Amino acid sequence: MSKQIDHKQLSTLALKVEPEWKKFFAKNKKKLEGMDVFVHELHDEISEKTDCLQCANCCRTLGPRITDKDVERMAKALRLKPVDVIKKYLRIDEDGDMVFQSMPCPFLGDDNYCAIYENRPKACREYPHTDRKRFYQIYNLSIKNAYTCPIVYEVLERLTK
Ligand code: SF4
Ligand code: SF4
Repeated sequence: MSKQIDHKQLSTLALKVEPEWKKFFAKNKKKLEGMDVFVHELHDEISEKTDCLQCANCCRTLGPRITDKDVERMAKALRLKPVDVIKKYLRIDEDGDMVFQSMPCPFLGDDNYCAIYENRPKACREYPHTDRKRFYQIYNLSIKNAYTCPIVYEVLERLTK
């Protein structure tokens, strides 16, 4: 099994290869539209060997967008009223989206476990999106995510090499 990429080195690594990733996209945009199965296989293989508990970089640095449904689920899990979840943990950001008041996420433990894992927001469940349908539509977003997430970094590296 290959060694997990240290998330602390990701920015340096991604900065170096970003021009190659962009070149690949410019050349293969059309081809990529038919490559979801391959991208999803890469996603599954790489996710399986990645230990998110050694990383938690997304929970430390990215603010997920939180929906009203997320608030309801979180409220049930925390045994609070939705309005109190909002007051205690959330704010509206400059784009008008509901996000956590501060990052790292208030539910991230010192052991990197999520205290509301079963009821975490949908955006947390879906991150890092490399198993999404029509991956070509989020290729450029994935380049950004590769600066945070070792899974995305490796998917892009394998896809473009
Ligand atoms: S999804 Fe990516 S950034 Fe988040 S903990 Fe797992 S490897 Fe790290
Ligand atoms: S709610 Fe859980 S999964 Fe989502 S950012 Fe916080 S700790 Fe991570």
